[in-house]
Amino acid sequence: MINAEYERSLRTAVINACQRMVSSKLVYGTAGNVSIRVGDRILISPSSVPYSELTPELICEVGLDGSVPAGQRAKASSEVPLHLELYRNSDAAAVVHAHSAAAVAAGLVTDEIPAIHYMIRQFGGPVRVADYATFGSADLASLVSQAIHGRTAALMRSHGLVVYAADLGAALAGCEQLEWLCDVYLRARAAGPIIATLDTDELTVVADAATQRGYRL
Ligand code: 13P
Ligand code: ZN
Repeated sequence: MINAEYERSLRTAVINACQRMVSSKLVYGTAGNVSIRVGDRILISPSSVPYSELTPELICEVGLDGSVPAGQRAKASSEVPLHLELYRNSDAAAVVHAHSAAAVAAGLVTDEIPAIHYMIRQFGGPVRVADYATFGSADLASLVSQAIHGRTAALMRSHGLVVYAADLGAALAGCEQLEWLCDVYLRARAAGPIIATLDTDELTVVADAATQRGYRL
């Protein structure tokens, strides 16, 4: 059992993350959603509430088994199935889903963002694109779960991106960095054929070098 003050700080962290998604242009309007895992439940942004109007009471609670406690002030995000699927199949502590422009555009022209830059190492390697399914559906959750296997991020065709991490700050930073990678990828594709990608061995060398320096890659 956690105390009320700590619970409130967790809910406030979710609100701050939602608002950073807006300021980082990862989303417009009420698109996207944010969750954190707290033991056997998640705290997740509510569905279609403008991020500027969020209060700790409006952040929703859902059990990892999908159960929803009675008396919640708002309806949980439509993407609860996606978030739960990722928590059940990984050691994620935070999940962020956004509709950023370069990620959506890149997902329309490729099945995978290749290792065009060493920063892709932080996601475990090239980032795959999950096939399209309707937002909020169990099918979408399942397709993303397949695409993200062995990675910590995926693109979602005609929809957006999703990143999970060991904490909320890292998940948000991951979204910003994946959006940047997608932007670089699109620029390269527009300029000509991509003639250089990094292989798995080099990504391992990068990971070792980053660990030595205390980078999170
Ligand atoms: P929610 O407002 O229900 O979280 O939906 C936003 C979204 O991005 C759906 O994929
Ligand atoms: Zn979405």
